[in-house]
Amino acid sequence: MQLFEESDAHPEALGGERIAVLGYGSQGRAHALNLRDSGYEVAVGLRPEGKTWARAENDGFAVRTFEQATEGAGLIAFLTPDMVQARIYENILPRIRENATILFAHGFNIHYARITPREDLDVVLIAPKGPGDLVRRQYEAGRGVPCLMAVHRDVTGRAQARALAYANGLGGTRGGVLTTTFAEETETDLFGEQAVLCGGLSELIVRGFETLVEAGYQPEVAYFECMHEVKLIVDLLHEGGLAKMHEFVSETAKYGDLTSGPKVVDDHTQERMRSVLGEIQDGTFAQNWVSEYESGLPEYNRLLQEDLNSRIEQVGAQLRGRMAWLKE
Ligand code: NAD
Ligand code: MG
Repeated sequence: MQLFEESDAHPEALGGERIAVLGYGSQGRAHALNLRDSGYEVAVGLRPEGKTWARAENDGFAVRTFEQATEGAGLIAFLTPDMVQARIYENILPRIRENATILFAHGFNIHYARITPREDLDVVLIAPKGPGDLVRRQYEAGRGVPCLMAVHRDVTGRAQARALAYANGLGGTRGGVLTTTFAEETETDLFGEQAVLCGGLSELIVRGFETLVEAGYQPEVAYFECMHEVKLIVDLLHEGGLAKMHEFVSETAKYGDLTSGPKVVDDHTQERMRSVLGEIQDGTFAQNWVSEYESGLPEYNRLLQEDLNSRIEQVGAQLRGRMAWLKE
């Protein structure tokens, strides 16, 4: 793996060209503001009826439609939700300048061939490893969130230099820019959120909570143990890995961790993780998600409602209402 830093970037690789940022959500807003502060000319492209239009205007951008923002831009960054990018690409295609660069922050649409870019376009990825507000705050503090960088197609011979200049404009080179491929970024990102971060962790919490409640313990106590305190442990892991967690929990907690942890998450769990990964790699997950999205999200909405109606959510809402600092 290659690591690029600030001194490796050539900001002028994107100099004198307008950058179109399509979408003004978590990533879009941070990218647009950081790039502008780095001296680039930025056009924000949005849906005319969209909620973020006023926000972008308040931040001082001349907001345009996707098509207008694309007109004449040297680099077009797709920062709308993944599921609408293919349609936006079709709509703006006639306006994309010859030999322009199209840039993604997640490889989904390219990797699963939902977008097949026109032959003359450079296609790159810059994926900050953090949410947009962190990308913005770190930039303002003179630091930067590390980014992944990939080149899917290099027609001009300048694709990587341009991607790196873009990452540099975000502040990403201050944190380091690591090379990857569209396939690796897409598949590992999906796996992480499904097996570990969103899916795996939330399921572990809910199952733990239900186990205690079923055994007759008070739901409030179970909530503190299985949901609330996750943050303490995650912060330790985030700051210093397993070593720091072991350093700060009690001897008893450590012994229980080392002996009981592997009974709960075991070889069977890992076997199922491999099968989740398999469906990401062979495109099954992507196909399911696209067809669910296109049929109006019935299953997604049903499952989401089930999560939101669950007992742990009801107990949690009451308890969190008593913790004033959580609202800050
Ligand atoms: P988001 O949902 O926060 O914002 C998307 C923006 O796109 C909205 O604010 C709006 O301006 C516009 N938009 C929303 N719905 C739309 C629609 N139906 N049609 C047209 N425009 C619409 O999105 P995000 O989380 O910033 O994600 C943008 C891209 O960045 C995605 O490819 C995502 O995978 C990637 N990414 C996100 C994060 C993250 O932390 N959120 C991190 C790395 C990469
Ligand atoms: Mg869940």
